Amino acid sequence: MGIFSKIKDGLKKTRDSFAGKVEQVLRSFTKIDEELFEELEESLIMSDVGMVTAEHICDELRRRIKETGVTDAAEVRGLMKEIIAGMLDGGQELNIRTKPSVILVIGVNGVGKTTTIGKMAYDLTSRGKKVLLGAADTFRAAAIDQLQIWADRAGVDIIRHSEGSDPAAVVFDALQAAKSRHADVVICDTAGRLHNKKNLMDELSKITRVISREAEGCDVEVLLVLDATTGQNALNQARQFKEAAGITGIVLTKLDGTARGGVVIGIREELQVPIKYIGVGEKIDDLQPFDAQDFANALFDDETGENQ
Ligand code: GDP
Ligand code: MG
Repeated sequence: MGIFSKIKDGLKKTRDSFAGKVEQVLRSFTKIDEELFEELEESLIMSDVGMVTAEHICDELRRRIKETGVTDAAEVRGLMKEIIAGMLDGGQELNIRTKPSVILVIGVNGVGKTTTIGKMAYDLTSRGKKVLLGAADTFRAAAIDQLQIWADRAGVDIIRHSEGSDPAAVVFDALQAAKSRHADVVICDTAGRLHNKKNLMDELSKITRVISREAEGCDVEVLLVLDATTGQNALNQARQFKEAAGITGIVLTKLDGTARGGVVIGIREELQVPIKYIGVGEKIDDLQPFDAQDFANALFDDETGENQ
């Protein structure tokens, strides 16, 4: 399956709901008036885009319609797609140019961190990078074993300590190993469930301190993993983590199982943090580097030059 067909496939539920709602509004209007904008805004909000972003999209739509002189409601669809693609674009490339580079993966329990790390290790390995994993979710033995399984699948090395050990010490060892083994990228897993938020954030800042000391001058990505099926709750988590930890990118998982994929637009627009990857399934190749244009096309069911 080509990459684009895969995104299309993964976004099927979102597209049916999102494009369905928008199309319905556009079909029922013959002229462009304020009522049309209101209906469009409403359908965006219902698609989990978020209130603020839905308003931005409609304001921009008004501006472009004025500018282009579009009079046909059906043409509004094309403008809307352009606006959304534009909003999602920029910064999606991983910043991992130094050797080693570090990717710290954070997020609440169950969003798909460990699975994403396995897929990401596979993706980066296939792009010729030497990857090393750090099992810094030491909260449960099962979490370490789960990462080990993914390391084996992706064919990469892993640094692990025993259950309950200090996560920052795992990260320290992973960075030392990366240097001595000449790894290109170190990806560190973290725990998502500690007994309270302060506890979790303290642990993350301790890890970040180790990284800035031991990987001085190296490229560091702090990727927040969010579960798309949780809709507006994902947006709330993004706000909280952005405030507490310096996130550099977002991975949105489980788009395959939800109609709430519109939340991608809200997160990107409101937080101004780039989406780096999207998860569209549980298999090792079900993680896609994010492409704004492909995403917008898939959302509106458009063909690209690629074989379908
Ligand atoms: P963690 O607690 O954040 O490390 O989450 P896990 O990596 O353990 O994942 C939790 C569950 O979500 C597992 O059952 C994964 O298979 C599933 N999962 C992760 N990413 C995706 C995805 O993109 N699509 C689907 N359908 N399931 C996913
Ligand atoms: Mg995990």
